Amino acid sequence: MQLVTRDQLGWPPSAAASQPTTLGTKIHYEGTPVSTDLLSDHSACIQEWQDIRASHMANTAEGYVDVAYNFAACPHGYVLEGRGLGRETAANGNQPLNHAHYSVCVLVGDEGLTQPTDAQLNAARDAIEYLQANGAGDEIKGHRDGYPTDCPGDLLYTWVQQGAPRPGGGSNPSPSPAPAPAPAPSGPAWPGEYLRAQTPMIHDDTARAWQQRMSDRGWRITVDGWYGPASAAVCRQFQAEKGLTVDGIVGPDTWACAFRTDNVTN
Ligand SMILES: [Zn+2]
Ligand SMILES: [Zn+2]
Repeated sequence: MQLVTRDQLGWPPSAAASQPTTLGTKIHYEGTPVSTDLLSDHSACIQEWQDIRASHMANTAEGYVDVAYNFAACPHGYVLEGRGLGRETAANGNQPLNHAHYSVCVLVGDEGLTQPTDAQLNAARDAIEYLQANGAGDEIKGHRDGYPTDCPGDLLYTWVQQGAPRPGGGSNPSPSPAPAPAPAPSGPAWPGEYLRAQTPMIHDDTARAWQQRMSDRGWRITVDGWYGPASAAVCRQFQAEKGLTVDGIVGPDTWACAFRTDNVTN
């Protein structure tokens, strides 16, 4: 699980009431237009999450003390901490419903960005399992269960009714292999591993193979198998030049693009 903590968001510990256990977790969406800019810019996801918290805390009628959700899931596969573990949500509609389930908001809306990415569904699943490992029961429901609302939208509600499966049918925590990589004129298939700058740093043959390929293409990059900030910076530049999602993460698209032989100008 790729967790963005409250600390990283610059937020103090949640002031929400303690809620050590629940029957399970309810899935939400934003229920408003959401910009597709989120798809190409993870910093827009962070800003979106900051804005959601600010709008909730500005809602004096509800008297919110924090963002209403326990966690959110962004299109790039990050779990964004909200109230976090062991806190009562304020998102489910009323107090009995808030006592009964935690909440996870998938950052999609009813216009613009409406379709969750596979990485996003994996992140939502990560959040559900994280909650289950820390007091949540097995129930996975939608906001509309027991409350008159469209939330979480038909797409996500169908997914919820299916048991919130990981895309592709895998049962492993993300990052998990995506469906078949984009066909490339040549080059190895995507190994199914997302390369991203993280702690601890990734060090393996996949990172080395990608660095070697980028070096062969003429990029100044150290080929040592360590995927850290320098590799991620090269990745971002490459993604920007190729019109890919600029997130510094080598996933199936970035991998396939790097190994294509018909686009080697850099
Ligand atoms: Zn909702
Ligand atoms: Zn994101």
